[in-house]
Amino acid sequence: MLSNLKPQSPDKILMLVEEFKADTRQGKIDLGVGVYKNPEGVTPVMRAVKTAEQRIWEAETTKSYTNLSGEPEFRSAMAKMVLGDVPTDRLASLATVGGTGAVRQGLELARLANPDVTVHVSDPTWPNHLSIMKFMGVPFVEYRYFDNETRDVDFDAMKEDVAKAVKGDIVLLHGCCHNPTGANLTPEQWEEIAALLEKSGAIPLIDLAYQGFGDGLEADAAATRLLASRLPEVLVAASCSKNFGIYRERTGNLIVLSDNTADRDQSQGSLAFLNRQTYSFPPDHGARIVSTILNDEGLRADWAAELEEIRSGMLALREQLASDLRDLTNSERFDFIARHRGMFSRLGATPEQVQKLKTDSAVYMVGDSRLNIAGLNRNTVPLLARAIIEAGI
Ligand code: PMP
Repeated sequence: MLSNLKPQSPDKILMLVEEFKADTRQGKIDLGVGVYKNPEGVTPVMRAVKTAEQRIWEAETTKSYTNLSGEPEFRSAMAKMVLGDVPTDRLASLATVGGTGAVRQGLELARLANPDVTVHVSDPTWPNHLSIMKFMGVPFVEYRYFDNETRDVDFDAMKEDVAKAVKGDIVLLHGCCHNPTGANLTPEQWEEIAALLEKSGAIPLIDLAYQGFGDGLEADAAATRLLASRLPEVLVAASCSKNFGIYRERTGNLIVLSDNTADRDQSQGSLAFLNRQTYSFPPDHGARIVSTILNDEGLRADWAAELEEIRSGMLALREQLASDLRDLTNSERFDFIARHRGMFSRLGATPEQVQKLKTDSAVYMVGDSRLNIAGLNRNTVPLLARAIIEAGI
């Protein structure tokens, strides 16, 4: 039977990691995989995470099972962080295996509620969105999103396509820090998207994987909060991987807002059922770290301060790179890098140019020309700027 298995196409980003490791050139630069790195190239354990782990270790007396939907302390702390004012009469939620698990369970819930669901997804998007939907057999259509000329959002095209979503459809949106482009909607444009969804009755599934990496913890949640306040039904897939730096702990939370308490109760039951069918209990350690931090004033403040250092560090690198490229090109052609937010920017280069960066300058980025800003530091920014020009981008 096992001989029937077909080779799966490997994840391109993870392949790039291997290629980078094998490159023996001095001064190689890794702008590939979406992991935060500090100026020394290290993905650190955040201070508050270390302290929280110590407290958990000291206080924990059992490793018995927790709750099928995840610990209530974690889920309510997450709902507060994401939504601000939490409408508890509408809220159901689920601790999941990372943000990926939250996206998957969100799609599973949508399919349980509507077996004929169609998902509308941005072109481009995080490749795993497409891959998960293909695997599940959930039909999807892409909405136009990125303008390859301006490297900003092509909002007119986006609106035209999102308007095609109908009641019973899901519109998958990036709540902030769009991956892979780095181009985001303005608050006014989010209002327009809210109005479109209000009119059509299509439901947003907001992927919020980078809260705190763009304009700040509150600002990055503004779009989600706007949609939550205006629409009767909203799904949010939040990841703790980046903003708590706990990638390998696999910590995520799916938030489901319903129209009324009866639907909320039904949603909560269905969410617990989905975890039960998939892996029973969700992982606890990362969730416990997050709730320990968010529910303690001192730890929360320390975590928020470190997150803010990370965010402003990435912003400074964006500005430095845009400025270096302004000097080198005598134009504002690359100013979009400073306008983009989050860990990524899509340069808009051709696959050949991306290849040239790798071959000639040992600069590794994803084939669609997505670069991870956090792979840079003050010293490597000028090297990248020169390499970009030399590659003819
Ligand atoms: N959504 C997007 C847009 C992402 O970029 C990522 C991380 N690459 C995820 C979800 C999933 O994150 P996690 O590692 O928490 O599963």
